[in-house]
Amino acid sequence: MPELVRDHGLVLRTQDHAETDRLVSLLAEGRGRVELLVKGARRLERPFGAVLDVLNLAEVIYYRRRSGLHLLREATLLQDFPGVRADLARLEAALLLLRWAWELVPREVPDPRPFRLTLGFLHALGESPAPPVLLAAYRLRLLSLLGYRPALQGCVACGRRESLVWVPERGGLVCRACGGEGPEVPSRIQRALDGLLRLPLAALLRLRLPPEDLQEIERLTRAFREVQLAR
Ligand SMILES: [Zn+2]
Repeated sequence: MPELVRDHGLVLRTQDHAETDRLVSLLAEGRGRVELLVKGARRLERPFGAVLDVLNLAEVIYYRRRSGLHLLREATLLQDFPGVRADLARLEAALLLLRWAWELVPREVPDPRPFRLTLGFLHALGESPAPPVLLAAYRLRLLSLLGYRPALQGCVACGRRESLVWVPERGGLVCRACGGEGPEVPSRIQRALDGLLRLPLAALLRLRLPPEDLQEIERLTRAFREVQLAR
């Protein structure tokens, strides 16, 4: 008999499977990202209704199968984040945040931190006046938690704090003397990156950044992610 597992997690993504089934990707507290097969989920009388819609927090009981595609037995809704759903900017940020989790959190790794980080940010988003700030912070923190923390305290080689350039291949900021080439990262952006990575959530909720700075931070973060994860 396959092992029966009880866990809870956030629904990251769903996709159709076979005639009437659905695959649900869950960011679970107990086992990282897990893929669940939900039988009959596309029939008119869906066995679990909307419980497993994207962005819900649900308790699940499933049969653990060797194939890695586990079979859902029961699902109960725990939280559906009404404060996030009621606001388009928050919802948009939440969906992008879940997408990063889906793309980056490894499958079947018993590490509760990605789940807890994501849950904390979704709760914060529900009261956020500036959702893009939280999204920017989440991206940096998820990368850090998964072992890709950018070095932001001066040049990675010599510690200098002037003339710093973003060099993802070397783990963050590098000064010109140590081989940094290209445009310098303004100190304003350096401070913002550091704050996004380290401020407590309550302080992040008060942080405001201009849209063009957020765009630049997203560009730097994506470049860092691409290079670091390709290794
Ligand atoms: Zn240096």
